[in-house]
Amino acid sequence: MLRVAVVGSGPSGCYTAQSLVQLDRDVLVDVLDRLPCPYGLVRYGVAPDHEKIKSLQNTLRTILEDERVRFLGGVPVGPGGVPTARLRELYHAVVYCVGAATDRRLGIPGEDLPGSWSATEFVSWYSAHPDAVDDGFLRGARSAVVIGVGNVAVDVARILVRGVAELSGTDMPQAALDTLAAGRVADVHMVGRRGPSQARFTTKELRELGALPDTAVLVDPAELALDPAYGDPSGLPGTQRRNVEVLRGWAERTAPETARRIRPRFFLRPVELTADDDGRVGTVRFERTVPDGCGGVTGTGRYTEIEARLVLRSVGYRGVPLEGLPFDAASGTVPHRAGRVLRADAVAPGEYVSGWIKRGPTGVIGTNRPCAKETVTSLLADAASLVRRDLPADPLRLLRTEGVEPVEWAGWQAIERAEAGLGAALGRRVVKLPDWEALLAAARTATA
Ligand code: NAP
Repeated sequence: MLRVAVVGSGPSGCYTAQSLVQLDRDVLVDVLDRLPCPYGLVRYGVAPDHEKIKSLQNTLRTILEDERVRFLGGVPVGPGGVPTARLRELYHAVVYCVGAATDRRLGIPGEDLPGSWSATEFVSWYSAHPDAVDDGFLRGARSAVVIGVGNVAVDVARILVRGVAELSGTDMPQAALDTLAAGRVADVHMVGRRGPSQARFTTKELRELGALPDTAVLVDPAELALDPAYGDPSGLPGTQRRNVEVLRGWAERTAPETARRIRPRFFLRPVELTADDDGRVGTVRFERTVPDGCGGVTGTGRYTEIEARLVLRSVGYRGVPLEGLPFDAASGTVPHRAGRVLRADAVAPGEYVSGWIKRGPTGVIGTNRPCAKETVTSLLADAASLVRRDLPADPLRLLRTEGVEPVEWAGWQAIERAEAGLGAALGRRVVKLPDWEALLAAARTATA
């Protein structure tokens, strides 16, 4: 039997496991994750109010419940956990599906002022990621600036204006729900450095902003009109054209009076965050930009400021190096050829990548399927030589003797039961457990 370790149980890890068992009848797959819970960004990144996308967990579940797939949660790989070299000894092949674990930086003064967070920190908090820190995100803020115009920016803008009635049916942890319910954010500025035809959000997500209760979307037609494609977007690719059309629709109508407003802004490049007297962020300073004719922008030397006591920097994710693996710092990815890891331009036998660590943080969840299939096709083409290496009988038994105590599928199911129980106790549906202690305590009940 070919024995494969997949590191990471997000969509790319799950689709890799799925491709392996679909394409090879003689494979056993262990899916390792440093968290006791599977599903990666589907659990800890997809917005809680996007229930349809969240329901993808059901598809991923069937993959992890395959009789030839084993989920091993709570197993960090790398420093402080199982070294990558040890994994290579225990498995014929290792596929790293570790995603893009950090966020890009703006590199401007004031970026780290209290009150300024990366969107991923905010997302992790309301998604109950056990490493998230509750830093008192809202603190009475009435105005928030979201920097960036991608789908994560749209997610956090939407969550900021949603009311308790819309959020209490989600699996959001109770503390985040209480904080958001008590929040007073009335204006959310979502700011792009380029124009509407270069915005990275998808149209479905953009449109959703226009359908939020008691919330108006306000756009400045003069700002949109700086975009050469604004007058006639017909030559743009589909998504960009539809985005511009939706924004134009909002610009052309009279917005209703509402309690909250989302304000998509364009052609504003962030240059500095400045503090109020209390040391927390109070203002974001932007330079106005104009199109450079090549899809980029140039600065105009004219500046404007937006007041905000909450700033969420939503400028994309970034891959981080994994000990023992090559890494291209410029792209934040592992160099590869069709999924085969490259060391000094030569294929490293038995080492593969899939997902964001392979191709960078782009695309939707479904993009991971063909990406995983490509990697698995490469792996299976190499399988005949990989299986020649004798392996110890059961990697799990060995890992246990080395002090690794994985949360297996039964442990995860116990976590699910605890989350259902917590939801019932709170008069809600499933409510996520937000910290390591609670997750591990729940997992232990499976073996008690
Ligand atoms: P993204 O799509 O790459 O968008 C990043 C945004 O940040 C862009 O508007 C970018 O502008 C801007 N930006 C980057 N550097 C900047 C800087 N120094 N100053 C100002 N702005 C800057 O990233 P994301 O929103 O984090 O999304 C990551 C991936 O997850 C995407 O593929 C996204 O579609 C996906 N996702 C999907 C969903 C969904 O389907 N519902 C939800 C969440 C995330 P430029 O274009 O000018 O660089």
